[in-house]
Amino acid sequence: MNKNNNTSTHSGHGRVVVIGSLNMDLVVRAARMPHPGETLVGESFAQVPGGKGGNQAVAAARLGAQVSMIGRVGNDANGNQLKQGLEKEGIDCTGVSGDPHLPTGVAVITVDDASQNAIVIVAGSNGALTSEAVAEHEQTIAQAAVVVCQLESPGETVFEAMQIARRNGCVVVLNPAPVTGPLTRAWLETVDFLIPNEIEAAELSGVKVVSPETARAAAWALREQGARHVIVTLGAQGVFVLGADEGREGGRHYPARRVEAIDTTAAGDTFVGGFCAALAAGRASDDAVRFGLAAAALSVTRAGAQPSIPYLHEIESSPGVPVP
Ligand code: AMP
Repeated sequence: MNKNNNTSTHSGHGRVVVIGSLNMDLVVRAARMPHPGETLVGESFAQVPGGKGGNQAVAAARLGAQVSMIGRVGNDANGNQLKQGLEKEGIDCTGVSGDPHLPTGVAVITVDDASQNAIVIVAGSNGALTSEAVAEHEQTIAQAAVVVCQLESPGETVFEAMQIARRNGCVVVLNPAPVTGPLTRAWLETVDFLIPNEIEAAELSGVKVVSPETARAAAWALREQGARHVIVTLGAQGVFVLGADEGREGGRHYPARRVEAIDTTAAGDTFVGGFCAALAAGRASDDAVRFGLAAAALSVTRAGAQPSIPYLHEIESSPGVPVP
């Protein structure tokens, strides 16, 4: 798809390249969170593939796109397991390098009986994904219709990746998570579709986001800072989309499907992956938004991060959804 007119003229029709983090999630369940200095006996332990980059790659692949991943793992068991997991999903991992010194990134997650979580992330090898390593895979990026980045990788690397994507005519999607402060105009102008959640939109724009109306105000503020299309995800309220050519009062709220939410982990990643897959298949952005919403709604009805991400055939069986 061509970013300027929504037609499928790009030679890389269908391919999504994800540039970002790969983590092993170490998930401990306990009745409650431990206090500082305390040792608690937990209830269970599981080791689950994660990282925003990995989750979005899996989502785009399950939802119909050809996917290439560019990232960095350690030369260790976690790294091998993460890479094998992506390959099982049919994801091209030639852009996933192994770091000889740093361990694979981990997220240590404690979940209590009230389903609250406390998370510590150690970037490990994700922090050593350099601009040069990404530039080595310019040919892979050039084959993409859509390139998607997040902020769990070094900032200069993400910026370089987006520049490479732009000069190769790819549609650039940025999910600015986790957010660490405002983005410069140069950053925002490099992105075609900026997809923050409520918290990220507020942090980036300075406008508190609690509703579609406040999301419109935040999106407009981001447009004034240089952003093009802005899609604010609003949890159970769906998304608000302000297009690049729309004014302060423009844009549109797309409600979420009503479902019984069990676990919203990776809902945002599923929306982003689904949106990118549909865009890469040549769908117009409003159809891609509807497709992403259907996929994300299904993901919240199931437990876990990657295990909850649906497959294309499951969306095809939901009525009224534009399927790529
Ligand atoms: P969030 O990152 O919480 O904004 O969620 C991302 C997307 O997941 C939302 O835009 C919705 O499409 C979907 N989603 C999250 N929570 C729910 C929910 N409770 N019911 C339906 N869809 C949801």
